Amino acid sequence: MAEVRQALASATAALGDRLEAELLLVHALGKPRSWLIAHADDELDSSHAAAFDALVKRRADGEPVAYITGRRGFWSLDLEVTPATLIPRPETELLVELALDRLPATGATRVADLGTGSGAIALAIARESRAAHVMATDASAEALAVAQRNAAAQRIANVTFAQGDWLSPLHGQTFDVIVSNPPYIEADDPHLGQGDLRFEPMSALASGADGLDDIRRIVTDARTHLKPGGWLLMEHGWNQGAAVRALLEQSGYHDVFTAQDLEQRDRVTGARWR
Ligand code: GLN
Repeated sequence: MAEVRQALASATAALGDRLEAELLLVHALGKPRSWLIAHADDELDSSHAAAFDALVKRRADGEPVAYITGRRGFWSLDLEVTPATLIPRPETELLVELALDRLPATGATRVADLGTGSGAIALAIARESRAAHVMATDASAEALAVAQRNAAAQRIANVTFAQGDWLSPLHGQTFDVIVSNPPYIEADDPHLGQGDLRFEPMSALASGADGLDDIRRIVTDARTHLKPGGWLLMEHGWNQGAAVRALLEQSGYHDVFTAQDLEQRDRVTGARWR
């Protein structure tokens, strides 16, 4: 028998991460994380201790915590995630902020989120802007099912989901703001074989030799889907800002800008159409 305190201390030592140990323990116990505050001296019964050990072993073997627990926080949302979806990253909240800043103050605002995955970006925008209607697309039916469950669980009704590549399911529709966190890693980047990325869908991570194949396609195709003065905003890698700005300029967009994330790295580039 071990106390919660001891079990957490040894898992933290094994994983090198206290937060991960806590998330796995409360998942094994079926409790919220706040439960830990008042229960450090509780005894763990042997079945809970064994379940926790098994989760710690999976994490030590490399599996991302979000796939083990099936949950990940993003913006104000507690989201279901599965190996069919990318795990939402905190730096992607910048894309949500930039989109919200650009929504028209009045009228029937329409937003598209391309490659929505778990639905993180679409649902955060829809939650903050009740007057907006968000169309969320994904090529993966499995990912869309996760996103739809997240919308239902959060009772967010101003999002519609459509299956298909990027803008292809949005034929004939135009938007005030189009956002995307597409795959943008170079196909031969060794990071794809390391850490948590090994467990995530390759189709959500890598995009051709320079990582820009999908961004090129979105830049080209978004032009017929933007209202006059509408914005296209895309996340990209820290070293891709200049290349994405050049693509937008060459394609006839204006007001091109790049924004930095909290670590001062280029993270989102955007521009307006006409
Ligand atoms: N930001 C992720 C990473 O570098 C990649 C996500 C993406 O390609 N959209 O781990």
